[in-house]
Amino acid sequence: MAHGRLPGAEPAAATAEDRLLWEQVRAALRSESGARNFETWLAPLAFLRCEGADVHLAAPSAFLADWVNTHFAERLRQLWAQRRPGSRHVIVTVQAGGAPVVGIAANSADIVPDTEMALSLPIESRYSFENFVVGKSNELAYNAALAVAATGTPGFNPLFLHSTTGLGKTHLMHAIGNALQARMPHAHIIYMSAEKFMIEFLAALRAKDSIAFKQRLRSADLLMVDDVQFIAGKESTQEEFFHTMNEIISSGKRLVLSADRSPQNLEGIQERILSRMAWGLVADINPADYELRLNILHAKVAALPNAVAVPDDVIEFLARRITANVRELEGALNRVAAYASLVNQPVTLEFARATLADLLRAHERKLSIDDIQRKVAEHYRLKLSDLLCARRAREVARPRQVAMYLAKKLTPRSLPEIGRRFGGRDHTTVMHAVKRIEELRALDRELDADVVLLTRQLDG
Ligand code: ADP
Ligand code: MG
Repeated sequence: MAHGRLPGAEPAAATAEDRLLWEQVRAALRSESGARNFETWLAPLAFLRCEGADVHLAAPSAFLADWVNTHFAERLRQLWAQRRPGSRHVIVTVQAGGAPVVGIAANSADIVPDTEMALSLPIESRYSFENFVVGKSNELAYNAALAVAATGTPGFNPLFLHSTTGLGKTHLMHAIGNALQARMPHAHIIYMSAEKFMIEFLAALRAKDSIAFKQRLRSADLLMVDDVQFIAGKESTQEEFFHTMNEIISSGKRLVLSADRSPQNLEGIQERILSRMAWGLVADINPADYELRLNILHAKVAALPNAVAVPDDVIEFLARRITANVRELEGALNRVAAYASLVNQPVTLEFARATLADLLRAHERKLSIDDIQRKVAEHYRLKLSDLLCARRAREVARPRQVAMYLAKKLTPRSLPEIGRRFGGRDHTTVMHAVKRIEELRALDRELDADVVLLTRQLDG
C-alpha cells in the first residue's frame, strides 16, 4: 500500500467540506447511472476520507468493491478530480458489516458556505405509498404517514417515525412528500437530513446569513428532518432546531421527524426538544416478519427491470435468510438479479447462494446440537429427555437417529462429540445412526420428508 501515512497514525477524519463534495459526486453518479444502478452498486459505498491525492471509499463486500473498481473507478476519479483538484486515486476498501458511520469533522472552519445549494434534498419519486408494502410491523407508521399527506390538517403534529436502520423511515418520508405535492402542487416541501440541517446552519452562521436560513426553513408547509439523532450533542444546532420545530408547529405547518430510536431513548438532546418531538404521534417500525419479507420480495421482483425471473424457492430462501432489515433484503435481491442478467444466467437457488455467499456468511447463525435436539423432539412430539435417555423403543430410537444424523450433517461437530451430547453414547452409535438414516431416506418417503423439513427449518 502506498499511503503516505505513518504506521499506527490515526487516519484523518472526513472534513465537512469533503463530505459535501461526496454528496455532489453521489448526486452526479445517481443522475448519470440511473436510480436502479445507483442503488445496487453505488449507494452502498461510504465515504471515508481524502488523504493527499487519495480518496478513500468503503464497500460492504469484496464483490461490490470489485465491481466498483472494474466499472466505476475511472468515472469516480474524474468526478472527484473536477471538484477537488489533485485527486488522482479512488481507493475502495472492504468494510464488512455495512457502511461505517463517518463523523463530521469538529472543525467547522472547513465548511464552505454555498448559498446556491438548495436547502431541501430532492424528494425521490421512486419512494411512494403505492410501493410501500404494509404489514403488522409497519402499519401504524404507514397510516400515520398517509394522514400527514392528506389535505386536511392531521390530528397530530409532529409525526415522529423511529426504527433501526433499513426499515422504511426515509421511504415513508419521501412518500409523504410525493403524495402531498401531488395533492397540493403549490405546497413548499423541505426534506433534509439532520446532518444537512447542521451543515447548512453552520454555513449560514459563518456567512452571517442565518436569518435567510431561518426564513427559508420556516416558509415550509411540510418540513421533514430525517435521522435527527445526529443533532445529539451539538448545542447551537439544537437551539436552532428547537425554534424551527416550534415555529412550524405553532403556525400549523406539518412536521415529520425520524430517528433510529424513540424520543425518550435519544441521548444528548435537550429535554425540551425531546418532549416537543413526542408531542404529536410517535410511530415505530418493527423488523419485518417472514410474511412481510415475502410480500416485499414479491413486490420488488415485479418491479425489477427487464423482467428477470426469480423462482419462488429463491424468494423464500432470501426471506428466510435475510432477516436484518428491508434494505439488505432488497439489496440481496437486486444483486442476484443484476448479476444474473450480467452473466446471462437464470436465477436459481444455487446461483443465489453463490452470489450472496459473503452476505450469508455474515448472517450465519451458529447452529448448535441443542437447537437440533430441541427441534427434532418438537417435531416428533417427544420430550427432550427422551432423545438423550437410553430407551431403545422404536418411537424414540428413530427420532434420536434423525437428530444424530442432522447433527452430523448440519454442524461441524465430530462423531465422538455428538455421541457425548446424546447421553454419552459411543461414536460408533452415531456413525451407525447416520448410515441407517441415509439408507432409510431412500426407502421411507415419510422419513425422508421429515428430514427435508427439519433441515429446511434448521438450516434455511
Ligand atoms: P430507513 O430510512 O428506515 O433506514 P429506508 O426507508 O431507506 O430505511 O428503506 C431501506 C430500503 O428498503 C429502501 O429501498 C425502501 O424502499 C425499502 N423498504 C423498506 N420498507 C419497505 C416496505 N415496507 N415496502 C417496500 N420497500 C421497503
Ligand atoms: Mg433513512
